[in-house]
Amino acid sequence: MSEIKRIHNALKQVHTNTSCTSVSGFSISGLATYFQLPELDFGIDMGECPLSATSINHIFLTHAHGDHARCLMRHHSLRKMMGVERESIYYMPENICDGAREWIRAEATFEGVPETKFRYPEIVPVKAGELKFLEYRKDLAIEPFEVKHSIPAMGATLYHYKKKLKDEYLGKAPEEIIKLRESGTEITREVYNPLLSFMGDCMGESLLENSRVFQSKVLITECTFIAPEDFAMSHKKGHTHLSQIADALKELGDQVKCEKIILSHFSMKYPDKYIHEMIEKEIPEEFRDRVVVFI
Ligand SMILES: [Zn+2]
Ligand SMILES: [Zn+2]
Repeated sequence: MSEIKRIHNALKQVHTNTSCTSVSGFSISGLATYFQLPELDFGIDMGECPLSATSINHIFLTHAHGDHARCLMRHHSLRKMMGVERESIYYMPENICDGAREWIRAEATFEGVPETKFRYPEIVPVKAGELKFLEYRKDLAIEPFEVKHSIPAMGATLYHYKKKLKDEYLGKAPEEIIKLRESGTEITREVYNPLLSFMGDCMGESLLENSRVFQSKVLITECTFIAPEDFAMSHKKGHTHLSQIADALKELGDQVKCEKIILSHFSMKYPDKYIHEMIEKEIPEEFRDRVVVFI
């Protein structure tokens, strides 16, 4: 690790493409984390808010740490400044909503916003295991789950929802289908297709504890620590170590359905070259071409 380290710039975005959305953003531990998924009208965390994030209507806050949350109100106020009329929706774990409201109120007072003009943004509390359709995208639903971190934190899976004709009606004439529907027969079934899961900040064991995330087309997970000597540190700080991701992949093998696994949130102490080398070394060969290093 003798190489000179890069000066990180949270507004300089990393881009990658997946079969269900493009992913743009930045994620370095302690500095800032935010992901924009424009095709899904969805954003994860708001540790920094570039102008490109202002077109996104749904933001999910994984936890309250500043490097993930600090620009939430900047997102809200930039949209207002730019004349976006639609209210952006901020999803967050229910146990941090009160704290968020106090923080938002205090910031407004600090900025001299008069009492009569102050309005809270649209905050939607989420619970583990409770499926919620996105406000402006009824074809998409999030299902949050708890993860282990140094403070309360959540990840979530984003599903694409559609109604499909039940198998027994496939191949029937359209007139017959119409008749059945008119007679009140339930001819469709609901299908939830897991597009993307994100872990937020978490300890490595949260991966296997929520192993259904490996059924999503895309998995975004943190990988703060990678050096073998930092394993104890990862546990102490409530983060994931690269070896735990490698172990989860080895354990699940063919059960891993992800087309892409995006590793993010690296500690800024590691040079880029070292990160690439260690991932090449640790990730089992059959998964290596699916892994995206988000730096
Ligand atoms: Zn973080
Ligand atoms: Zn954190």
